[in-house]
Amino acid sequence: MNPVRRVRLTADWVLPIASPPIRDGAMLIGDDGRIEAVGPAAAVPNPPGVPDLAFGSAALLPGLVNAHTHLELTGLAGAVDEGDFSRWIRAVREIKATRPAGWFRAAARQGVRDAFAAGITTVLDTGDSGEVLPALAEAGGAGVVYQEVFGPDPNQVAESMAGLEAKVAELRGLQTARARLGVSPHAPYTVSGPLYRAVADFAARERLPLAVHLAESPAETDFVVHNQGPFAEAWAARGLPPLDGHAGPEGARRSPVAWLDGQGVLGPATLCIHTVQLDAADIRLLADRRVAVAHCPVSNARHGHGTAPVAALRRAGVRMGVGTDSVISVGSLDLFAEMRAARDLAGVSAAGALALGTIEGARLVGSEGDTGWLGRGTWGDVIAVDLPEPDARTPEEAVLAAGPAAVRATFASGRPVYRRGHAA
Ligand SMILES: [Zn+2]
Repeated sequence: MNPVRRVRLTADWVLPIASPPIRDGAMLIGDDGRIEAVGPAAAVPNPPGVPDLAFGSAALLPGLVNAHTHLELTGLAGAVDEGDFSRWIRAVREIKATRPAGWFRAAARQGVRDAFAAGITTVLDTGDSGEVLPALAEAGGAGVVYQEVFGPDPNQVAESMAGLEAKVAELRGLQTARARLGVSPHAPYTVSGPLYRAVADFAARERLPLAVHLAESPAETDFVVHNQGPFAEAWAARGLPPLDGHAGPEGARRSPVAWLDGQGVLGPATLCIHTVQLDAADIRLLADRRVAVAHCPVSNARHGHGTAPVAALRRAGVRMGVGTDSVISVGSLDLFAEMRAARDLAGVSAAGALALGTIEGARLVGSEGDTGWLGRGTWGDVIAVDLPEPDARTPEEAVLAAGPAAVRATFASGRPVYRRGHAA
């Protein structure tokens, strides 16, 4: 990892996100990796001996926050054909099972490099290899890495929990001030009710944040609500009992959100990934439980899951960020595309869309004091994005129209971790 050195950055525009864009802006990042000053270039100190990097026709903005990744699957873009979602999920599991030892370590490291190259400095990542937390920590990245656990058979709870607890014990010591550990009981079609309850208890006891894939596909709703469809058939074929605790107070079967709430999983430290298949009661429940949501519009569209009720969730006050999902689903880590897609669904301004990929993302895991915006004391997580010149658009519109190829440089807590055309 490159050492942190005090550095001054200037560009035609600085977008602090939490305050209006600054023309001819600058920032000074200190030896501790945190921002000392940000503002108009004339007002930001230029201490002797401190390198002054001038980016010219570019915007400096906070490193992006990708609210949902599976970096251990890096390199598998295009590996699974589209099709029925339950078969797709199974195909991903089968491909993972064929990877040799050591493969996931290399994939995780490449995934972190790919994230930096795409302007992403914070990831909320789920996976079961245990390789992403060390890869993120050693590279100086930020985020929460949720250790996945599976187990649809209620008789499997002790075994699944023993595996999870061992992995958490192994990974705990690898956390840094920036890269933290969480747990993720995967999804209602791969985890039994008793296992969800055991993981929720464990997470509360150990003060670990939680992530769940929830209300993603119509197939999941068919399974949870009606015990029908491809997931139900797969469970029956394995001799697994239907989900327990199905019936609500009036005897009606419950939605995936209501069912998961019944397992004690939903709360302020829970990240709900996808949440596409929601009715008005689900939205109220997510807001009441103060969960955070990772919205993945491009992945949802690719899989044909439909569109999430983004505007209604935001009106209800649900914290929301945007995520790419895995490269198997979407091909690349293009958070610019996610912000544009979310903008259309949320009906927000360009500035609002950029906030979804920065400060709003940081809020999902309580990191908004440290990252997701540029201000005195926040981490020097900064990217330089090319701006065409001349350009009639606002700098926010121009940045939002960009993509990973426009990212010229990435700094993570002041360390240069990516420069286009150079090895980091
Ligand atoms: Zn996912």
